[in-house]
Order: sequence, then structure tokens, then C-alpha cells
Amino acid sequence: MRKVSVFGATGSIGQNTIDLIARDPSSYEVVALTGGSNIAQLAEDARKLGAQLAVTAHEDRLQNLRDALSGSGVEAAAGQAALIEAANRPADWVMSAIVGSAGLAPGLEVLKQGATLALANKETLVCAGPLVLETARAHGADLLPVDSEHSAVFQALAGEDMAAVERIVITASGGAFRDWPLPDLARATVEQASSHPNWNMGQRITIDSASMFNKALEIIETKEYFGVSPRQIEVLVHPESIVHALVGFRDGALMAHLGAPDMRHAIGYALHWPERRELPVQRLDLTALGQLNFSSPDDARYPALRLAREVMSRGGLSGAIFNAAKERALDLFIQRRIGFLDMADIVATVLERFEGTDSLIDADMTLDNIQQTDHLARHWVDEAVLRRAG
Ligand code: NDP
Repeated sequence: MRKVSVFGATGSIGQNTIDLIARDPSSYEVVALTGGSNIAQLAEDARKLGAQLAVTAHEDRLQNLRDALSGSGVEAAAGQAALIEAANRPADWVMSAIVGSAGLAPGLEVLKQGATLALANKETLVCAGPLVLETARAHGADLLPVDSEHSAVFQALAGEDMAAVERIVITASGGAFRDWPLPDLARATVEQASSHPNWNMGQRITIDSASMFNKALEIIETKEYFGVSPRQIEVLVHPESIVHALVGFRDGALMAHLGAPDMRHAIGYALHWPERRELPVQRLDLTALGQLNFSSPDDARYPALRLAREVMSRGGLSGAIFNAAKERALDLFIQRRIGFLDMADIVATVLERFEGTDSLIDADMTLDNIQQTDHLARHWVDEAVLRRAG
């Protein structure tokens, strides 16, 4: 039996992971499930899967969790220290599906115990790529991509020599507003931005898809995970979300990965890797699809893509600054305190301020420094919003 844990179990990726595990219960021993506010879901899944431990990130929800687990034999715990303790429980395979930079510290702990980390939490590599890869290497841990584009690239690269790779192309649906007239974007609402044309995902990543901040994070994730240079990474808008990524080789061959937009494919690939097992995903009928479309992203519509290129050229802690500023700007958009287009403007302002702060540019990439930088960037976003209001 494989020992598995799921961090972010109550979210969209977490629920898809549990769906796969629950289809084959005799193959898995569930060590820990973690969640945030959704105590009912966390307790239901922990009972169903017979987990050893269930953790909520929120200390004030511990009693609710204890009550919901009463009589089940599942241990309950809460707070950041409990998340780290859960990450230290011996497991063979761990899904990292917490949303945001909160996923970084537990992910690093999992790698330190040498377990396989299936990484949906792209923020981990954006904030701390070199630190994460070095931790995995030092502890002999496997790090497997779960983002659909990165899983697609990983699969296209199986058996290939990285030296033969010319370019990596990741696709983007274009999000909720890809066909909107540009002037209307300033008035886009949270509800409009929260509806994705093809994928069913958590609210935050859905809004990030509309602004292309999600793709911006993924460009940086591609650079960090596959060790290619920024100029080798291309983005194509592909409205059908069928081709997830392509890898171009020096002989001119272009290997594409196609699949229905269902995250259980990438999750299942990481769960069964290095084997391929049957998965409950739709099989593509290319004749029914008829045609697939591709175009270059419009930089004026998606300023986040340019910001990602700036971050890659700066390196160091700029990924942590970029991600935290984006997370805070997204909070403020969801709270209706800033508009849709303000998010990119504010993140750009924060990156400029970072550029002028030598002590940060030269700081070492440690977890402490990343977490301090993260707090600072969120504070800078709030200051920038206050300045604009005043
Ligand atoms: P969701 O918002 O659906 O779920 C997030 C999970 O994290 C929930 O379990 C939530 O708990 C928990 N959580 C929220 N805040 C915290 C915190 N501060 N500390 C600990 N746990 C917390 O997100 P998704 O599943 O959509 O995305 C998860 C990650 O996977 C993100 O990094 C995203 O970019 C990435 N990803 C997602 C894809 C998708 O299809 N959804 C595709 C590719 C990548 P609760 O809900 O109980 O409050």
C-alpha cells in the first residue's frame, strides 16, 4: 500500500485527487488530508478514506474539526505548525494543492523527508525555484509537475535529451475575457472573471486565467522546472484547451500533448508515474473537434506576461515579490476594492519598488527571506492602493 497525503484536499485539485484515490482504496493508505475553511468536506473525506490525520490551516476552526471527526479515530489538528507536522509524517507520495505561497513551507518539508511531491502549487516554484530543486536533489525526492501544461511538457520529454530541446510552448485558453473589447476590461466584475470557458477550477486560478497572471506564473514555473532559458519559452492562445503544451526539438520535430480539459489526467499521471494506468477521463474524438486554433497573445490585453519576463530577467527573490503582490492584488479585486486592470498596474509598481531596494535584490533565497519578502510585497500593494485612492 502506498502512503499518500493531500495538502489542499478540500479544493478543486484536492477533490480531483481524492476522486482518484477513492476509486482504488485498497492501494492507498491515507496519512494526512489538509484544508482551510471547508471543515465539513475535510472531515467527510478523512472519514471516507480512513486518514490518520486531518489538519485545518485555521487554528480557530480546530474545535469544529474535532466535532466533525468525533468517533472516527481520525486525529484533528490546526494551524501552520500542524501543517508542517503533517508534512513530516512519513508518506511515499504527497499532493501539493494548497493555493498560494502558503503551499511553499509544507512542500519543502515533504521534500526533506524524501517523498515524491506532486506539485499543483505553482507558487512553490515561482517563489523559490532554486531552493526547491536543491532541496529535492539533496534529499533524493522526486518533484512531479501537475499543472496541465507542465505535466504535458514532462510527458513529451520522456526519454528525450534536454540538450536537444529548442523551445517549449505552453498554451493558454485566453480566459473569460479573451474576446472582450479592450476598453471593457476596466469594468470587468469578479463574477465575470470567475467563470472559465473550458476548465472547472478554484476561483483564484480562474480569475488569474482571465488576467493571464496564471500563465505568467506558469512561464516562470517552466523556466524553473525544466531549466530552460526564458527565450526558449513561448505562449500561444489556444481557445479549445485541448493541446496543453508542445516541445520543439533541434531536428524541427514538435511533440504535442493533447487531452480533454480534466485535471485528473495530470494528477493521475503524477500519481501513477512512472507507470501509465487507466484514468476516468474523456477520450478525445478529433473528428468531432474538427479544428484547433492558435494565436499569439496580445501584450496590451495581458500585461502580466511582460511582467513575468521582467521577473525572470531579475531572478532572486523577484518571483516571491511578484507572486505575493499578485496574490494581494487579487484579494483586493475579489473584495471589490480595485478594478480588474488595476491588478497588473499595482504589481508593476511593486516590482519597480523592489528594483530600487538593493538589500532585497541581493538577499539569499532562504525560506525566511522569502516569507519576509512575501509580507513586504503585500504591504507595498496596500500602500500603492492607498496612494492611488489619496
Ligand atoms: P482551491 O481554491 O480550489 O483550493 C485551495 C486549497 O487550499 C483548499 O483546500 C483550501 O482550503 C486550501 N487553502 C486555502 N488557503 C490556505 C492557507 N492559507 N493555508 C493552507 N491551506 C489553504 O484551489 P485550486 O485547487 O484551484 O488550486 C490549488 C493549486 O493548484 C493552486 O496553486 C493552483 O494554481 C494550482 N492549480 C490548479 C488547477 C485547477 O484546475 N484548479 C490547475 C493547475 C494548477 P479551503 O477551501 O477548505 O478553505
